[in-house]
Amino acid sequence: MADTRIYNTLSRSLETVSPRSEAGRELSLYTCGPTVYAYAHIGNFRAYVFEDLLQRHLRDRGFGVRRVMNLTDVDDKTIRGAHASGIALADYTKPFKDAFFEDSKTLRLLPAEIYPEATDPAHIQRMIAMIVTLMERGHAYRAEDGSVYFRISSYPAYGKLAHVDLEGQRQGARVASDEYDKEAVADFALWKGWVPEDGAVGWESPWGKGRPGWHIECSAMATGLLGETIDIHCGGVDNIFPHHEAEIAQCECAGTGHAPFVRYWMHCAHLMVEGSKMAKSAGNFFTLRDLLMQGWTGREVRYALLAVHYRASLNFTIEGLGAARTALGRLDAWHDRLKEAAGEANNGTECVAQPDAATEEFFTALDDDLNISGALAVLFETLRESNRRMDQGTLTAPQARGLRDWLHRVNGILALEPEASHEAPPTEVAKLVEERAAARAAKDWKKSDEIRDQIAALGWIIKDTKDGQRVTKG
Ligand SMILES: [Zn+2]
Repeated sequence: MADTRIYNTLSRSLETVSPRSEAGRELSLYTCGPTVYAYAHIGNFRAYVFEDLLQRHLRDRGFGVRRVMNLTDVDDKTIRGAHASGIALADYTKPFKDAFFEDSKTLRLLPAEIYPEATDPAHIQRMIAMIVTLMERGHAYRAEDGSVYFRISSYPAYGKLAHVDLEGQRQGARVASDEYDKEAVADFALWKGWVPEDGAVGWESPWGKGRPGWHIECSAMATGLLGETIDIHCGGVDNIFPHHEAEIAQCECAGTGHAPFVRYWMHCAHLMVEGSKMAKSAGNFFTLRDLLMQGWTGREVRYALLAVHYRASLNFTIEGLGAARTALGRLDAWHDRLKEAAGEANNGTECVAQPDAATEEFFTALDDDLNISGALAVLFETLRESNRRMDQGTLTAPQARGLRDWLHRVNGILALEPEASHEAPPTEVAKLVEERAAARAAKDWKKSDEIRDQIAALGWIIKDTKDGQRVTKG
């Protein structure tokens, strides 16, 4: 099998994805999730769609992917929002959490295995324990107001991800104590001492009542759930500094010192709208809900977000959504035509035809740092060529079946299949779905993925939703 290469922000180079152990192709994936103080906007979803494409492609390449995505449900913005609404923090964030899951489903995002919440008492305890370790090792200090800061001067590698030289910030830049409690401007908060504006929000700690800083939330939840070293950590470019830089500092200073926090860092570029930075004041700020209200579908928005390489800036436009609609219309028409050409009698199992060798190029394009433009070019060239053959009547039924099965595999990655039909699956498929549920309950992800492929080969698509498996006709 071809190597899958991805661009690692840490090394600034393309690297082959390899599992940590020879024993299995298991990868852990941590993706920074939403701060649930508002509906997620399409810039947020660009990152989540990229992560979804990554997860699906790795899975197609035989990797078992264990993914964790956090929900930041305590920070300045959520507290401010709850305060302004006069309700408890949990009541304020709940509808935005629900909306996030609903939007993710609309955009056909594969669910993470775990969505830890920062306010979960078990995670709060872990954050506190990490801060205690950092203090014991001289990497953190308590300020007058009960806040705790990370001492950047204690960690010379700070800046290695963002590739910035923070020498100046480490050495000098001491701050006047009448202005700040911090030793140095760049020191960031691990724990924020309680202030009256926090109201009822706060947890007891060895430094008094307060709340965790955003960076320590991710560090504690990521290592707590996935272990000291995580294979792939993703986010938007905005997260590189200071958020991910701080995550590295915290984890590597509180860890055993033997293992890196993350092996591959991947970051997705900005999203612009109609050529400018998205901003509420500019009137070009969109949530997914805004676009659905305008009559666009989740599938169309997914296509528009997916079709540009993740490291290139994406200019999201209404014209682009129109192009997505056209492209999907062509795919749907092709799918119907292939089904017809494949013949009524076919039940999918007798298919022996292999797709053209060229169509493997779709997957090898994605092996090249998720080269989606290359992959889509292969898809549409395959569509054009087979349509031409169907026009001429030279595409045989087995060939049509081969192409249809290939399209199912492609859609296992792109998830652009037509809106689900509600047809019930045949017994054979239903039995496999049950077996897969058992495999998932036993956390046998490899078997779960194998069964998914068997189901796909029978012409059905299985999706994991937070309500369980959903199976639809391909
Ligand atoms: Zn994070």
